[in-house]
Amino acid sequence: MSARVQVLLGAGVARSRLVRIGVLVAAVVFFVSAPLWLGPGDQYVAGLAIVAVLLALSYNLMLGSAGMVSFGHAAFYGIGAFTVALIATKMHTNALVGLAAAPIIGAISGVVVGAFCLRAARLYFSLLTLAVSQLLYVAAFESYSITGGDNGIHGITVPDFLNDPVNSYYFVLAVVAACAGLLYLLTRSPFGAALNAIRENRQRAAFVGLTVKLYELAAFTIASSLAAVAGALYALYDQQAFPGLMFWTESGTPVVMVLIGGMRSFFGPVLGALFYSVLESKVKNSTIYWDLGIGAMLLLIVLVLPGGFAGIPARLRELTAGRSGGEALGSPAAIAPAAPLREGPSPSPAAAPRRAVAPGSSRPCLEVRGLSRRFGGLAAVDGVDLTVSAGTVHAVIGPNGAGKSTLFGLISGQVRPDRGTVHFDGRDVTRAAPQTLARAGMGRAFQTTSVFPRLTVSDNVRMAVMGINGDTRRPFGIAGNLHRDRVQEVLAHVGLTEHANIPAANLSHGDQRALELGISLALGARLLLLDEPTAGMSPYETRRTLELLQRLTADRGITLLITEHDMDVVFGIADAVTVMAEGRVLTEGPPEQVRVHPEVIRVYLGSDW
Ligand code: ADP
Ligand code: MG
Repeated sequence: MSARVQVLLGAGVARSRLVRIGVLVAAVVFFVSAPLWLGPGDQYVAGLAIVAVLLALSYNLMLGSAGMVSFGHAAFYGIGAFTVALIATKMHTNALVGLAAAPIIGAISGVVVGAFCLRAARLYFSLLTLAVSQLLYVAAFESYSITGGDNGIHGITVPDFLNDPVNSYYFVLAVVAACAGLLYLLTRSPFGAALNAIRENRQRAAFVGLTVKLYELAAFTIASSLAAVAGALYALYDQQAFPGLMFWTESGTPVVMVLIGGMRSFFGPVLGALFYSVLESKVKNSTIYWDLGIGAMLLLIVLVLPGGFAGIPARLRELTAGRSGGEALGSPAAIAPAAPLREGPSPSPAAAPRRAVAPGSSRPCLEVRGLSRRFGGLAAVDGVDLTVSAGTVHAVIGPNGAGKSTLFGLISGQVRPDRGTVHFDGRDVTRAAPQTLARAGMGRAFQTTSVFPRLTVSDNVRMAVMGINGDTRRPFGIAGNLHRDRVQEVLAHVGLTEHANIPAANLSHGDQRALELGISLALGARLLLLDEPTAGMSPYETRRTLELLQRLTADRGITLLITEHDMDVVFGIADAVTVMAEGRVLTEGPPEQVRVHPEVIRVYLGSDW
């Protein structure tokens, strides 16, 4: 990295830290002094807004950190409120016991609802959360003898000091500040980093060793638990709880707050919740167009300011940088390629030094027997046998649709086989999950590049190191400080040191492929499955990738199983070649033997490679 860029980056980081500290101090002064200059009505609204901050922050652990869209968050808010109400009115116990119990009850209901809803992914997950929360609402509404039905429970008895509005305000502020602090630490921890990785690319997250659904369940449970704390605070503050708190439209509120404030920043939801709550208190009762207004505002924000309020400074910087003709650091145009992309000659077979290992001479690293998979009537992979010797480069070639990618999917746990077995280093790994295989030392690069696009290049690699070490189970510590040396070493190995601090999405195609290799290296993989590693590359990038692959096998003894359409590449680096056609193995052997096989010549000449 050039000295100038480093200085700029350093200054930028220091400035943004200063700005953050400044905002935090201003916020503390503002909230602590609020009762001094607010009238009683406004102070009451401010207390409710602070409760909303916790609801929005807890929601953003799912939406902003993990990329999960739940439409049922209000159910847990209601559960928290009823925990306080029922403990105080039915059990005649101190309402603060309800506040202490709320996170536990919230977490228990969260883990149950989450486990059910996470049986589905994406849209279906969202719809399930909506359905379950509505069921909970109806259950609360119908249980008149417990919840008071339509009326709910009013006049909750709270400890004396909470009857004073100022005390009650400070109490809510203190609890929300504590929970927000915990959430902040969580989002910066290795656990938080794992959630970010899942948000960016679930498939890749599994292939760096993360059990994606478990992390999603953990995020859902923590979010539910804290939503219940928010609900409990509401019940203490407003001294009431009613089923309407759980109605499905209420679940829209945290979504709107987070979108308005900005889900990409930790403080975005804080701004969104304050803004929404204050606006609601001032406007909602004086107009019938409240919902229309909020809808229009949301639309405007999504279209004009996708980062919400928290995205305004970055947007302004972008605009001013644009006017002065400069480039914001990290913008795609500001990034120079690692080396000038000269168009070089295609790699010639002779250019590749052959390794001493003769195919078949060493123990098998991978053994596939009778592997089959049908898609409807089509036998995509049909009784494939394959033996890959340790430390060799084994190429699988064949026309488009021959079943190469499906075979890789079957081996790496992404596609379930109908029949057959896979042994990796002597261990039966048939039907093992991708994360199990990643932890066992199998790395995978996909036909379509699969990285974490909005994470920086070094965070991509760090994610792999953390995933494989099991660091991501830790909810404390700062993820960005971990494994610096290892990350640098891997980046140097794949030639990406210069780009360490830019988002992976801003890399050139060839560099993204290199990053994918780096991720597999960081996993300490002994076997790498590379699906068309040079597809779409310029001749220069192809040559660089080949050199890199050769270094990997020569220096580190990594076994490579690759599919490739470029015959120069195949015959240049492979020790053994398996030819597939229509899901079956046509022939197999050393490259020079396969090259002259009559069947291979027939298939090659007769189709589009
Ligand atoms: P290759 O990588 O050799 O080009 P693929 O393994 O991608 O071949 O595909 C083999 C065959 O299986 C193709 O006919 C493809 O259309 C089919 N196929 C692959 N994946 C699926 C899927 N998920 N569902 C249905 N058909 C599939
Ligand atoms: Mg393919």
